[in-house]
Amino acid sequence: MKTLSPAQPKKRTQSQAHFQKEESARKACQQVLAIANRFFEAVARINDGPLGENRGDFVGKRGKNGGNRGKSGEKTARKKKTLWNSSGLCNYRLRKKNGQSGRVDRSQPRFRFPCPLPIIHSILACQTEQNIHREFKMAFPQIRMRRLRANSAIRRLVRQTTLTVDDLVYPLFVKAGEGLKQPIKSMTGCFHFSPDTVAAEAAEVASLGIPAVILFGLPKAKDPKGSRAWAEDGVVQLAIREIKKQTPDLLVITDVCLCEYTDHGHCGLIKDGQIDNDATCELLAKVALSHAQAGTDIVAPSDMMDGRVKYIREALEQNGFHNIAIMSYAAKYASAFYGPFRDAAESAPSADFQGTALKDRKTYQMDPANSDQAMAEIALDIAEGADIIMVKPAIPYLDIICRANQRFDTPIAAYNVSGEYMMLNSAADSGLLNRQPAIAEMLTSIKRAGADIIITYFAKDVASQLKNQK
Ligand SMILES: [Zn+2]
Repeated sequence: MKTLSPAQPKKRTQSQAHFQKEESARKACQQVLAIANRFFEAVARINDGPLGENRGDFVGKRGKNGGNRGKSGEKTARKKKTLWNSSGLCNYRLRKKNGQSGRVDRSQPRFRFPCPLPIIHSILACQTEQNIHREFKMAFPQIRMRRLRANSAIRRLVRQTTLTVDDLVYPLFVKAGEGLKQPIKSMTGCFHFSPDTVAAEAAEVASLGIPAVILFGLPKAKDPKGSRAWAEDGVVQLAIREIKKQTPDLLVITDVCLCEYTDHGHCGLIKDGQIDNDATCELLAKVALSHAQAGTDIVAPSDMMDGRVKYIREALEQNGFHNIAIMSYAAKYASAFYGPFRDAAESAPSADFQGTALKDRKTYQMDPANSDQAMAEIALDIAEGADIIMVKPAIPYLDIICRANQRFDTPIAAYNVSGEYMMLNSAADSGLLNRQPAIAEMLTSIKRAGADIIITYFAKDVASQLKNQK
């Protein structure tokens, strides 16, 4: 601690201000400790248990009243006792029984109450010290943040977040038909595959080291219920079988929803101009079960109906699929960033709904302005049996990923959606952004926010880049 020399008291120097600040921090710390000490002593006194100073079985180490005898033999003023000594040990031992009141029974071990004071003290002291350290003791030039950025080796050494191929999931669109590999207009570099061609693409994904794909289906026919979604010979069901035949080790995740299969484009059944929640859940459970029967590893309900994870978990359990994981789109927002995907999956709500509550998906997907609701959605999905939870989209919702990561132990997936993908692609194509560093920075930010899994159309791109770096 820097003290002021009386020889140089001229004006209020910076170090003087620091000194005063430091002193006031110490005083505040002492005050808090004094209050805490009084509080715990009061608790001990009113407590009926063994902590009671004037009752029961315990005595202080100086005897009942803690008084000392002076030289004259007169009892001096009672010395104030505290329940705990400075090292956090209790000063009390068991009193001897049977009439020997006031005597300490030394055959008994010193009673050790867990004392919260040293803990509080160390926390406060540590925080105070840290602040003092930061503010007063160490500053420029002792601290130069650029030392740890001086070259690539040191930057690598202190890097906190590293994007790897293990973090990635690649989305694939499967369309009814044969021999298809059609470019998707709204999404550069993405294709519609048929169930027979998708397996080759999946094999390429696996060869890049990407651990998983997620499948979306575009059926040959749509109806109000979306019944092709759970057909045994549905596009996704066929695709799962083909992929598992060629690359059994590649994880297959399947999107479970109705919007690609319903003629009205909504994620649920419509009844009286509303989405019927519970009836939809029953159908979603059928879809998930049909995917499990086809051999999927993970089902991923994306509809945002209440209770659908429970319905799906029950259906899987009842049919013996105990090890099929559920990755729930737990916090899925009614986002404008899905635009290119709706083209790719041909799943936009029908234009017939203009002017009604069903013109968009806002009655089931989340309001982008809310984050508390996201925590509630995630907690409910975990309680219903979700193994992995998802936040979608990713980049405009990094705060949600971060909050979820701090609060839940369940792995978090983030969906780097089509709008995020195409924004970056468009900017790169027009020469505004340097493509690869921009991709790396975008995906790293998602991981830094707390995502364990990143679903991204950049997955193949990034995987090849990482492979080339090795
Ligand atoms: Zn949907």
